Amino acid sequence: MRRTAALIVGGGPAGAAAAIRLARGGVRPLLVERSAGPRDMVCGGFLGWDALANLRKLDIDPGALGARPIDRVRFVSPEGSVETALPHPAAGLSRRTLDEALLDRARAAGAEILRGRAVRAASSRRVRLDDDEEIEAEALLLATGKHELRGHERDASIAGAAIGLRCAIGLSDAAARAIDGTIELHLFDGGYAGLLIQDDGRCNFCLSASRARLKAAGGPQALLERLTGESSVLAERLAGGDAGDWSAVAGVPYGWRARRTVPGVYRIGDQAAVIASLAGDGIAVALASGLGGAEALLEETAAADWQRSFHRRSRRPIMVAEMLRRAAEAPRRRAPLMQLLSQFPSLARIGARLTRIGS
Ligand SMILES: Cc1cc2nc3c(=O)[nH]c(=O)nc-3n(C[C@H](O)[C@H](O)[C@H](O)COP(=O)(O)OP(=O)(O)OC[C@H]3O[C@@H](n4cnc5c(N)ncnc54)[C@H](O)[C@@H]3O)c2cc1C
Repeated sequence: MRRTAALIVGGGPAGAAAAIRLARGGVRPLLVERSAGPRDMVCGGFLGWDALANLRKLDIDPGALGARPIDRVRFVSPEGSVETALPHPAAGLSRRTLDEALLDRARAAGAEILRGRAVRAASSRRVRLDDDEEIEAEALLLATGKHELRGHERDASIAGAAIGLRCAIGLSDAAARAIDGTIELHLFDGGYAGLLIQDDGRCNFCLSASRARLKAAGGPQALLERLTGESSVLAERLAGGDAGDWSAVAGVPYGWRARRTVPGVYRIGDQAAVIASLAGDGIAVALASGLGGAEALLEETAAADWQRSFHRRSRRPIMVAEMLRRAAEAPRRRAPLMQLLSQFPSLARIGARLTRIGS
């Protein structure tokens, strides 16, 4: 059986950030990532200012990767449209590009990366891969995102009812001009859609919808047709653009936070806390927890103590994001929310600040 000081399962932003920090701290981690190469993820691709600050700590320059600057947010709903400046500069970048850059940085820092291999199950800090190889780790950093790892499943009561969907869509010149520099959030009953321009110039189109809403429509493409039928603005944005392949993730447990863990197992990223995607701070949470978990391990802070402290740290952003998500999804609450935002657009900036995990 292979043995290692630190094993990271999952090579998204959380796992890669932890790998870079550990390698720089003198512990050569082993990271197992099941995708064999660049891939798209269900994600809006919005990088808030806290995510950008954490990326700078990791010596990643999103601008050099082609990230598009964003300085405004626009909410569009059946009640109307509200636009305001963001408190700080943000950016739009595809996860295909971001995740590869992070993994390259981890490799360059000295981490060993096993790609195209998946961990099938774990028993405490011992894991079994899909080819039955076993690895025993002194510390395990669990970074599998929304996916459960057998042996370290999250509480069964959390199964979320939201479905996440994402595809890339080509934009007309008019739509590109309208979205340029903006994160546009279309609020509808049971969910929202987020649009921004990603590094390749196409629109990163991301949807979070209740299972009921998707089922009633009959699938992602049918839901998209319904939504463009309900919103002329959305129809204009997507006119003429073909949706590429959809990526999907089911049962997203928005609002969940890990309070406990077992000795030597640090839960990071979505395995530590799942912030409502509407807030656009999941990547920042992943980077902050990846860095924080790795630092705790380097400082020999017990996993349970660190997990409790991250549970506290993520409380405010997660709770505020949940309040906003619930208000945005339900027409009875959304109408007064949009009214308030149209009178006081600066409230959106306060909301944006309160939903940041920080760097
Ligand atoms: C609809 C939607 C839109 C979103 N939009 C945004 C946004 O615009 N901005 C933002 O900041 N956040 C957004 N988020 C949240 C963000 O995508 C996540 O919070 C973030 O990806 C979490 O990072 P992570 O590293 O924890 O997990 P992930 O990014 O999910 O990475 C997990 C990795 O682990 C790998 N893996 C899983 N299981 C195994 C296994 N058994 N063995 C080996 N490898 C494994 C996967 O292949 C994957 O690469 C959105 C989420 C949703 C659902």
